[in-house]
Amino acid sequence: MAYQHFKFSLRKPEILKNWWCMFTFFLDCIFLSYASSRHVQLLRTMSQIIQLKNHHLDGMSTDFLYHLAINVADTKDTSNIQSQFGDVRFILTGGTSIRMLELAKYLRKLFGVEDTSDPVDLCEKGHRYAMYKVGPVICVSHGVGSSTFSVVLHELLKLVHYAKCKDPVFLRIGTCGGIGVAPGTVVVTKNAFNGLLRNEHEIAILGERVVRPAQFPESVIKEILAYGARADDGFQIISANTMGTDCFYEGQGRTDGAICEYSAEDKMKFLQKCHNLGIRNIEMEASMFASVTQKIGVKAGDICVTLLNRLDGDQVDSEKKEEYEHRPFLVLGRYIQELLKK
Ligand code: URA
Repeated sequence: MAYQHFKFSLRKPEILKNWWCMFTFFLDCIFLSYASSRHVQLLRTMSQIIQLKNHHLDGMSTDFLYHLAINVADTKDTSNIQSQFGDVRFILTGGTSIRMLELAKYLRKLFGVEDTSDPVDLCEKGHRYAMYKVGPVICVSHGVGSSTFSVVLHELLKLVHYAKCKDPVFLRIGTCGGIGVAPGTVVVTKNAFNGLLRNEHEIAILGERVVRPAQFPESVIKEILAYGARADDGFQIISANTMGTDCFYEGQGRTDGAICEYSAEDKMKFLQKCHNLGIRNIEMEASMFASVTQKIGVKAGDICVTLLNRLDGDQVDSEKKEEYEHRPFLVLGRYIQELLKK
């Protein structure tokens, strides 16, 4: 429109004036394109650093991440936190501290880190969770279930925010029960269902029921499958829906808990209903993990190995537990190595 207007107004007596207009118009164009590219650059940098969804934090001058035993002494100048954790790109979480220590040692080997000493637990003083750092990766234990995991997840999200980590990816590795898949199958979660068979996470906040969506980003799932799986691994890796329950026994339809008021037939009907919803594994964290990371807008993925096929029984007594537990390490290690090349 501006260009057309300029053409129609081009008359002889005004030719000099119009040449000047043309010149300033081009200067404006150059300036605007520079300014917009700077703006895009700025937005890109800003979007890489995660933004928390809590305005109260803006009014806090200090923040003690209690369970991690990490003190942010000055929230306006976090340079010491940045120097310790600013390079972190992957936050790997899993149930036990032993498994996270093993994972840290595995990653050291994979990255060719020549350090034979035991990795140091950076959260030892908190007496709750363990954290090991291997270059741009931290491996953190989260306990059993959503309640213990959500505590450390809130603090980890704040940690990477204060540390100004760029584009961090949160991943969980774990064990689970399979539904209609062979024991030892690795499942990368697509949609996370809660124990009510809804693809959402439900939480009580201020005495009210709050329901949030619970999906993992497709891009992360695709990359985990593309970089993490190999045809000659000798086990299956699939992407499917996961049910995250608040109870290992009744919540997962087991008949071997201390309480059970339903029949074996009811249990099979329930498992079949899960299967019909595309659920191929059951664990205790997926819906909370998906919903919190989705709410914050941070990349995340859940990779679990099935220890048993729940259509065949309830007891977890797999002799191959250790071998199976190593499979998510393999998948995760390859995925991380590939992303670090970029
Ligand atoms: N973890 C679970 O939550 N359920 C299982 O069946 C196995 C491991």
